[in-house]
Amino acid sequence: MTGSPLDVLRSVFGFESFRGHQAEVIGHMVGGGDALVLMPTGGGKSLCFQIPALCRDGVAIVVSPLIALMQDQVEALRQLGVRAAALNSMLGPGEAVEIERRMRGGELDLVYVAPERLAADGFLTQLERCRLALFAVDEAHCVSQWGHDFRPEYLQIARLFERFPGVPRIALTATADGPTQRDIVERLNLGRARVFVSGFDRPNIRYRVEPKRSSARTQLLAFLEAEHGGAKGGDAGIVYCLSRGKTEEIADWLRRQGFNALPYHAGLDKRVRAAHQDRFLKEDGIVMVATIAFGMGIDKPDVRFVAHLDLPKSMESYYQETGRAGRDGLPSNAWMAYGLEDVAKLRHFMDASTAPERQKQIERQKLDALLGYCETSRCRRQVLLEYFGDSLPESCGNCDTCLEPVETYDGTVDAQKVLSCVYRTQEMFGAAHVIDVLLGGDTERIRKFHHQRLSTHGIGKDRTRDEWRSIARQLVAMGLLVVDVEGHGGLRLGSECRAVLRGERSVALRRDTGFARLRKPDRDKSAAKGKPHALETAEDEALFQALRARRLELARQQGVPPYVIFHDTTLAAIARERPKSIQALSGLPGVGQAKLERYGADFLQVVASA
Ligand code: ADP
Ligand code: ZN
Repeated sequence: MTGSPLDVLRSVFGFESFRGHQAEVIGHMVGGGDALVLMPTGGGKSLCFQIPALCRDGVAIVVSPLIALMQDQVEALRQLGVRAAALNSMLGPGEAVEIERRMRGGELDLVYVAPERLAADGFLTQLERCRLALFAVDEAHCVSQWGHDFRPEYLQIARLFERFPGVPRIALTATADGPTQRDIVERLNLGRARVFVSGFDRPNIRYRVEPKRSSARTQLLAFLEAEHGGAKGGDAGIVYCLSRGKTEEIADWLRRQGFNALPYHAGLDKRVRAAHQDRFLKEDGIVMVATIAFGMGIDKPDVRFVAHLDLPKSMESYYQETGRAGRDGLPSNAWMAYGLEDVAKLRHFMDASTAPERQKQIERQKLDALLGYCETSRCRRQVLLEYFGDSLPESCGNCDTCLEPVETYDGTVDAQKVLSCVYRTQEMFGAAHVIDVLLGGDTERIRKFHHQRLSTHGIGKDRTRDEWRSIARQLVAMGLLVVDVEGHGGLRLGSECRAVLRGERSVALRRDTGFARLRKPDRDKSAAKGKPHALETAEDEALFQALRARRLELARQQGVPPYVIFHDTTLAAIARERPKSIQALSGLPGVGQAKLERYGADFLQVVASA
């Protein structure tokens, strides 16, 4: 296959134009240069090596860490009519030999290789006999010990590069801070590589964070109903939880609410885990309730939401986990509920770990940064991007604080009530008990410690429990209260709280609209978010669903994920435009030559019978 990169983009992939740095990177690679590409998830990294692979002579060798991911990409390429194969441990004995033969014979454009394979001498010798177009290293942060996913086998890549110094190489990753980036350059010997850094912004993701009320799962349900049409909406998503037990519990509960939910965690039987992952990829509308064991290498483009029922460890984890939403560029949600208990739990884990003190300190700071993000009254995207050294000059208009600006009020008196209650209960109790006292409760504990006699008993009856919780959390985020983790989450007074108690300093608190926020979903105003593909009429929507059903049938017949046939974006365009001919269909995004031949008639028929 030859032609200019733009021709290939249009005829093979069916896309009109390059995005971001793609054109530059591809031009550089086609010209034989080396490159390091940092691009956010969904930015379109794959094309950066796939198109040069097609434009240059010979076979491109792509190192990729996960077999599932590899199979997926190879399948997607085959659907496009590209000659691709994967060399990994899943192959039968004869199959690897056959792939190697085709490599030598110039019958393949791209070969995906598991890093273990590189260690085998035989393999490098095989490569000597091939014409090589380029080397690509996907998920390049795996080579760095500073990265969050170090894989020792990745160190083998350096050997490969030494052996073939003249072959252009490209390393790609979505997450690399400064040290990781330098490590990649050093370990992969990319000193001569041009570095392409794209912004970290994911404009199609809408960020929302709300404080946990008495039932976080009810909040989750309210969110899913308001934003994703509930169980009937059929949107695929991921719900992250901290513990294995909780993933199972929440998955069960969601199933009882009518969702197609599955659990995923490292404690599940290997086959069950693989089967759940497979269903997530191949069926529409699965909600995966998972620990962080799930996600690395999940390339599913149409994940419509990522929900956190527990706090992630850091801003990096949050960015990476939420980044799995909306790779196809369509509107998607990142939603999180967080509470003080989460913070205490995470801090406790960190303290109990056997990691060196310095590392624990770093982890605590990372958690604090995340909390600052949760409690901010600024645009969330700005806070997020600034954390990664990126910036956004204006507020984004697509996060909760932009959409429903956080109002603040003079909360000095409220703060004083909490602080003095903590003081009078001798800085020994957690937020729950302090709030019981404020509310004038009559619990066993209150009686046991004679807290009904305190002057602060019952002085907070003007507010609800949820409101007091939020206030306590904000005081923690401001450092006016300190959560004592050794003391099992007891609240202590921070060093600056005297000024507040004496009335010398005022405290602005957010009037936490988080409690009211999702109560009345406004489906009309939010049509574009409830239905990410934004179809205007009921007829279009019905056609879209019919196209989806046909796609699922075609996918089932071949045992491939539906999105390798067409993305939702393409189906939505078909539903809107209603093409009557192959010619008309070929003009729509994501419809390349091979797919046109393969599926054109099928989908035209669905349109015709609508
Ligand atoms: P990454 O690996 O960076 O997360 P992918 O390479 O998987 O991203 O691409 C993300 C999505 O964007 C894919 O569905 C891909 O088909 C689509 N895409 C990539 N480049 C373009 C483009 N130039 N025009 C339209 N869609 C694109
Ligand atoms: Zn914003």
